[in-house]
Amino acid sequence: MSGHKVLLVTGGSRGIGASVCRLAARDGWQVVVNYAANREAADGVVEEIRAAGGTALAVEGDVGTEIGLASIFAAVDGAFGQLDGLVNNAGIIGMPARVDEMTTERLDRMFAVNVIGSIRCAQEAVRRMSTRHGGRGGAIVNLSSMAALIGAAGQYVDYAASKGAIESFTVGLAREVATEGVRVNLVRPGIIDTDIHASGGLPDRAQQSVAVIPMHRPGTADEVAHSILYLLSDAASYVTGAALNVSGGR
Ligand code: NAP
Repeated sequence: MSGHKVLLVTGGSRGIGASVCRLAARDGWQVVVNYAANREAADGVVEEIRAAGGTALAVEGDVGTEIGLASIFAAVDGAFGQLDGLVNNAGIIGMPARVDEMTTERLDRMFAVNVIGSIRCAQEAVRRMSTRHGGRGGAIVNLSSMAALIGAAGQYVDYAASKGAIESFTVGLAREVATEGVRVNLVRPGIIDTDIHASGGLPDRAQQSVAVIPMHRPGTADEVAHSILYLLSDAASYVTGAALNVSGGR
């Protein structure tokens, strides 16, 4: 164990999560870069951090399964023996569809990853960080989406609803652990230029959406990551249960 704090970023291999890992390492965090399948991308983030003199570890694990969660937290405990921050970033969308077309399998997976996965990671984090459990405190940042407020009709209402669940969870958990040294907040990205749109069958979505964004451009992963880093930092020591829109005014 060193003096540096330990941060777990779920889905740290690409997009917003990868930016959080890079910027956090620059701020002195030791970073656990979780990924589901893309080992090469995770290794790339780790190599970049190490080349810059930071500490990082790539850890495979699907947050939508108990086996994945067990291996993530076994790796955190084994490598660092402490946890000071969690960014619940791993998230999925589906192909554009109406609610009356969605399969049960799709809904199960959406909620297993985006909701249960985030709640389970937060549980494990609180067990390690809360002063009630002998921990030294910490911070959790959850990834919601402007979709939680807008509903994403005709595209992915299931995804929007999963982020709605994250919003309620954030407020509730923040109040539950407020006296235990643990702060819990969320960011609501708008349309950010990452791979997620291609995984939902709309690779050009970010560029094609500029007309509905007041700033007339998609956001970057780094722009979201900076807000997350603020919420993790001591500069946000009196901020808990809060939501920060990072959406170019949308
Ligand atoms: P992305 O580019 O698609 O990257 C997703 C990351 O999550 C990858 O590192 C991926 O790992 C990982 N991941 C996916 N499923 C996982 C699982 N079951 N277990 C562990 N890791 C998993 O996504 P992004 O755009 O950066 O989005 C990150 C978060 O921001 C998500 O929660 C998303 O809902 C939210 N968000 C994004 C936008 C946007 O416009 N981009 C807007 C609002 C909210 P692999 O590399 O191994 O596949």
